[in-house]
Amino acid sequence: MNAPLCEVRELEVRFAARRRALFEPRRWLQAVRGVNLRIERGAVLGLVGESGCGKSTLARAVVGLQRPSSGSILIDGVERASARGKQLRELRRRVGIVFQDPYASLDPRQPIREAVLEPLSINGFAKPRTRRLRVLAAFEAVGLAANLYHRYPHELSGGQRQRVAIARALVLEPELLVCDEPTSALDLSVRAQIVNLLADLRQRFGMALLFISHDLAVVRKLVDEVAVMYAGRVVEQAPRDALFDAPQHPYTRALLSAIVTPHEGERRERIVLAGEPPSPLDPPSGCAFHPRCPARADVPGERCASELPMLSALDARRLRACHLDPTL
Ligand code: SF4
Repeated sequence: MNAPLCEVRELEVRFAARRRALFEPRRWLQAVRGVNLRIERGAVLGLVGESGCGKSTLARAVVGLQRPSSGSILIDGVERASARGKQLRELRRRVGIVFQDPYASLDPRQPIREAVLEPLSINGFAKPRTRRLRVLAAFEAVGLAANLYHRYPHELSGGQRQRVAIARALVLEPELLVCDEPTSALDLSVRAQIVNLLADLRQRFGMALLFISHDLAVVRKLVDEVAVMYAGRVVEQAPRDALFDAPQHPYTRALLSAIVTPHEGERRERIVLAGEPPSPLDPPSGCAFHPRCPARADVPGERCASELPMLSALDARRLRACHLDPTL
């Protein structure tokens, strides 16, 4: 069997928290806890969950901007953390990223043609005389007119800036594009254009996407499969329609209850969760969702508060981490 394009194995990312007193013991902020994921070539995996659930940290680790505390990330079978020299440069080329805020990710003093050219020249990819052609091709692929070539970021609209950010990632011809909330900073009308652009690029170039968003309506349009994160862990993973039509984890049900279901054209019964997401400095024991879970009473005893539910198969393609009886 071929290796997947990207495989995340038992990934943990912890950060040392600032001490509040000189002799206080070191505390750890646990951003990502034991995550396993696979992204096949050309596939689109959506990663959803509330702010602070660890999805952006996971994205940064996949791109190599965040070192894992333990576990590993393999790109086409090559472990990211042990790659050096030419192999590391090749991994950087194969995995690109688009950030949430295109204005912050572009240098305001740099014309956009330079911004798109830069990844090629820094990494020494492509012969100098062909780089300009690659930049023009990237501009064309994201639908940016050639007359914008010499403009600066402040002269563009938010949607045009995000297109520049996508062109900058695209110019290296990545096989996996990690999109970290790429539409959150954009107006509603521009969001649809960027989502359509990403879907089009996927079709044209066969790129895989790791698409991170808290906007479930956008996720539903674009992805093949969805992983739901809560407090640093994946709590449910399933093909898109299976997950949106019949969510099996109480947290997923609550998340999806807020969006309109296209089949029925109406909302599901809204599930309002009590309390706030837990602090990654001190996640609850057992199932981290138990203090907020509306289904906890259906699990006998104190199992939810004391025993961590493992992510396990409910059927051939669906995974869930929950102690609820699967037949309920
Ligand atoms: Fe709720 Fe218990 Fe399932 Fe956690 S394990 S989601 S608390 S029912």
